[in-house]
Amino acid sequence: MKKKNFEHKIRAVLPGSIAEELELEPGDVLLAVNDHEIEDVFDYHYYTNEEYLTVLVRKPDGEEWELEIEKEFEEDLGIEFESSLMDDYRSCRNHCIFCFIDQMPPGMRETLYFKDDDSRLSFLQGNYVTLTNMSDHDIDRIIHYHLGPINISFQTTNPDLRCKMLHNRFAGDVFPKIRRLADAGIELNGQIVLCRDINDGAELERSISDMTSYLPALRSVSVVPVGLSKYREGLYPLKPFDAQSAGEVIDLIESWQKKIYPQYGVHFVHASDEWYLLAGRPLPEEERYDGYLQLENGVGMLRLLKEEVEETLAEVKPDGETPKRRVSIATGRLAGPFLKELGKRIETVHQNVTLQIFEIRNDFFGESITVSGLITGQDLIAQLKDQDLGDELLLPTNMIRSGERVFLDDLTIEDAEEALGISIRIVESGGRDLVCAVTGEE
Ligand code: SF4
Repeated sequence: MKKKNFEHKIRAVLPGSIAEELELEPGDVLLAVNDHEIEDVFDYHYYTNEEYLTVLVRKPDGEEWELEIEKEFEEDLGIEFESSLMDDYRSCRNHCIFCFIDQMPPGMRETLYFKDDDSRLSFLQGNYVTLTNMSDHDIDRIIHYHLGPINISFQTTNPDLRCKMLHNRFAGDVFPKIRRLADAGIELNGQIVLCRDINDGAELERSISDMTSYLPALRSVSVVPVGLSKYREGLYPLKPFDAQSAGEVIDLIESWQKKIYPQYGVHFVHASDEWYLLAGRPLPEEERYDGYLQLENGVGMLRLLKEEVEETLAEVKPDGETPKRRVSIATGRLAGPFLKELGKRIETVHQNVTLQIFEIRNDFFGESITVSGLITGQDLIAQLKDQDLGDELLLPTNMIRSGERVFLDDLTIEDAEEALGISIRIVESGGRDLVCAVTGEE
């Protein structure tokens, strides 16, 4: 086996893994798998999904090891590389008129300003990508390896409007690439960030209609409202949606669901939860979410939460067994009323529990940002510090950085606990997690 040009330094070897058994160590360099050069994580996943493998590795002293491996087909080797993509992250080539990164105040941690638009992150983490920096070579590899789903930020199917919205004169050229992916049967999901008087109304009708031509490869399309912070000076003027315009968006989307479902058996296009809260309308029933394909994008999260809370409440112990407890939940202003309703349901079953919901105003980004995921530690502390919060404060997991106990503004949960004089529990997004957190179960 000859030495290859692509080299990937191993950062960690997972305990108990195949790599550990083979005595691979941090600092070793992966050179090839089955004599194929590994360009990036796409290649790595593809070539290691085998029962018999030959892996070429260079040790720190320069010695090369050729290792023969027998394993289950999809079994991971247990190697972490210095870069999770096994390549540099690709930043985006757009200057979208609605980009939230452009609307962030200065002085936040550097990684929050990085504009990624990398199809490999779509595959690995579910990120939405515009495809504007994707070459034909990338498309070829996705098709060849049959990778998916690929999540695409469409915004519109009108090429000229897409160029304007993404502020990129090549942004209207992506549709042949999407067609190639769809024709090759690659699973796709789509997203439209809706900007008022820009890509809504007749433009949204056109986009939905055009996107049905990618069915069944394109499994779902979410429509989410643009987020507008108070830091928009010098940026393209955009108007927030209100209750009435949100209702119009819902009506349009639901009318398309009614057209599409009888023909394709899926509802296909979905308004994110935010629209229903903004319009003060009831959430769609569970069946209309087609198996919750875009939960991470805020589509159906609240419906699922409600269903899971009801399921959990149906299984509970008799009232008397729940210990007496008074807890508080802090959330964004948008979901506050919904959580209050849910809280009342929990209280009717667990009568020893008293629940208070605090809606946190977003002073950091501006009051029109109402989602819980953008609440900072400083707003939380400032607005709760004089409140009687009871025995414990519950926070939704999306208020902190994934896998860490840190808010967006770098304050930690411990900082907030100290400032508020209360213990804080982070609640995962499931309904059972919520009921258990409220009743004090582990
Ligand atoms: S693709 Fe647009 S919205 Fe996404 S990071 Fe780039 S400029 Fe911002």
